[in-house]
Amino acid sequence: MSVIAVTGSASGIGAAVCELLANQGHTIIGIDRQTDEKFTQVSTDLSSPQGRNAAIEHVKALAKGQLSGLVCCAGVGVTAPDAALITSVNFFGVTELVEGLKSDLYQNDNPAVVVIGSVAATAQLAGPHAMVDAMLGGDETQTRQLAQSANAPQISYAASKYAVTCWARQQAAAEGNKGLRINVVAPGAVETPLHQASKEDPRFGEAVKKFVAPVGRAGQPAEIAATVGFLISEQASFITGSVLFVDGGMDAMVRAKYF
Ligand code: NAD
Repeated sequence: MSVIAVTGSASGIGAAVCELLANQGHTIIGIDRQTDEKFTQVSTDLSSPQGRNAAIEHVKALAKGQLSGLVCCAGVGVTAPDAALITSVNFFGVTELVEGLKSDLYQNDNPAVVVIGSVAATAQLAGPHAMVDAMLGGDETQTRQLAQSANAPQISYAASKYAVTCWARQQAAAEGNKGLRINVVAPGAVETPLHQASKEDPRFGEAVKKFVAPVGRAGQPAEIAATVGFLISEQASFITGSVLFVDGGMDAMVRAKYF
């Protein structure tokens, strides 16, 4: 069994991923800004370059050359205190961590990365967008300026998830011949503290509550974790650059003419 780092390990989907992978016998290095005694060994804030660098150094030290998987679950939703924070955590908190840990992943057989995207990326933001371009250009300062001036958390959220999905696919194409697989899981509504906060938000709550998947319910964190567990495993050895919607049919409902 191998060593797998998981961001967002203290809550929701990330905690469920840690639980599943630990039960399968993997050694987990949890990363979160919140502390919890179960899986989180690296307490750091992924919204800043300093916090990301600290996370990378801690993971390297703890993994001792054995890291073979990275699952990026940490994220903030539309109720985050400011729209720029959403882009810093959801995009740069993923891309800089993958970049920083790539050399360690390559030291082991069959390395794999799974990034948690969102069905919101395609439901709310199809096509080009200045914020997406700034993120894909690696310019955090410009991204944050655009997010702050737009001051629309739902656009920052959708843009961050759209951009991180494109970035993961670009990485899959670039790194595939070296053996690194990278895939995206795009959840629909999942019952976690993040989703609960969105439902209770006076600006977005009604829309969130009305946006129900064809299966008629929200998902459970364990249902997302099961998909992550498959994608990080050797069973998914020929899958890279894929975006797997785990959304009770939301994407099919919203974009029935596209695939
Ligand atoms: P959650 O709030 O339960 O968990 C998110 C975790 O990320 C928390 O433990 C939090 O402390 C951590 N985190 C947030 N900002 C951080 C930072 N700056 N540094 C370090 N850690 C930080 O939420 P969740 O629903 O489990 O979300 C997990 C991922 O799933 C997120 O990327 C989210 O965008 C995505 N997602 C969730 C839903 C949903 O309905 N719950 C739907 C689609 C996508």
